[in-house]
Amino acid sequence: MQKSIFNFLLLLPLFMLNACGQTNNKENTTSKPIAMENVISKPENPYYSNIDTKKLDVSDAEWKKVLSPDLYAVARQADTERAFTGTMWNSETKGTYYCAACGLKLFRSDQKFTSSCGWPSFFEQENKSSITFKDDNSYGMRRIEALCGRCNSHLGHLFDDGPEPTGKRYCMNAISLDFVPDATETKGNLETIVLGGGCYWCVEAVYENLEGVEKVVSGFAGGTVANPSYEEVCTGRTGAAEVVQITYDKTKTNLDEIFHVFFTVHDPTTLNRQGGDVGTQYRSVIFYATEEQKKAAESIIAELNNAKVYGSKIVTTLEPFKTFYKAKDYHQNYYENNKDQPYCQMVIQPKIEKFEKVFKDRLKKK
Ligand SMILES: [Zn+2]
Repeated sequence: MQKSIFNFLLLLPLFMLNACGQTNNKENTTSKPIAMENVISKPENPYYSNIDTKKLDVSDAEWKKVLSPDLYAVARQADTERAFTGTMWNSETKGTYYCAACGLKLFRSDQKFTSSCGWPSFFEQENKSSITFKDDNSYGMRRIEALCGRCNSHLGHLFDDGPEPTGKRYCMNAISLDFVPDATETKGNLETIVLGGGCYWCVEAVYENLEGVEKVVSGFAGGTVANPSYEEVCTGRTGAAEVVQITYDKTKTNLDEIFHVFFTVHDPTTLNRQGGDVGTQYRSVIFYATEEQKKAAESIIAELNNAKVYGSKIVTTLEPFKTFYKAKDYHQNYYENNKDQPYCQMVIQPKIEKFEKVFKDRLKKK
């Protein structure tokens, strides 16, 4: 490890030149609106399209070949998933929901509300033809079944106990929906990215001090459990990683620099581990929200691997960003509030010192 850090430090002036040199030409990159693009690709499913709205007429036998068994059971056999399955039912991330079978746009996140029923619930559909209805008298109940307007797959049911202004509740199976977060929740020049580099206290403390970073929030992403607690994540069984959500000003820093800091302050070559912290919750991971973030991440990883900056190959995973869950308040600004604690002095302090040394010209002016 000593040797690889040494190598990295030798190469850093090069990277930094690169990072600074690219500041200007990256500023003008604007993300394209996602509405007109095929935002999800499912090569195994030839009927899937986020743009084509023409009605499909596909046999159940054919659907069985192209859908996962779980999705097939719900979409084509009107099965109902268990309540509180997945993380979608209480997600508040802004974005668009599509039919998981055919890709048709069904809802926008601002048509969604958190219902205690445990299924993703909406009060309005994206447009009049996106969802169709049918009487459903199964199980001795009189209900209205909601179906995809393009492929006629079962989505869930429609009830009359929703909030204003419609009073409707579209109670959907999460598995029937694909969700794509908005490109970025941009406010002027602000952009966000979610990174996991082991213990979030450490990563947060470093970015708090980088010029151009407006906000850093510690939390969790990438798991199968909605709103997991720190204790649940610590078991390593939720699939969630400790992450930080970084909001930065594109005119003062850029993705390249954010990633260079990331690869300086943690070890991206140890699988599911940072020093003494072991488990998938400590994996090295970049949650990309846009193609631009994904490409930038791929390119720096290739660059570092090619330059053999570390003793071994980078194992950082690139995962599509879905939902970020903020950790409890006492986890926020942990280093700043607990500087005397042994963990802070032994584990976090050296990372900050390294960061301050390498990026000394890029620290926030105090
Ligand atoms: Zn559909």
